[in-house]
Amino acid sequence: MVKKINNLYQCEECFLFYDSKEIAKKCENFCKNNHACNIDIIKHAIKNPKS
Ligand SMILES: [Zn+2]
Repeated sequence: MVKKINNLYQCEECFLFYDSKEIAKKCENFCKNNHACNIDIIKHAIKNPKS
């Protein structure tokens, strides 16, 4: 399940944050199925989320 933390969405597989729920879901599906991250997805990740 994608987690909403403040205004960001976190992939529970790789723990990266996204500002889009859709992208976070895509990341999670990819991570679960491939046990690796997709570079085209993680390029949208928020590198240093501010709390
Ligand atoms: Zn992920």
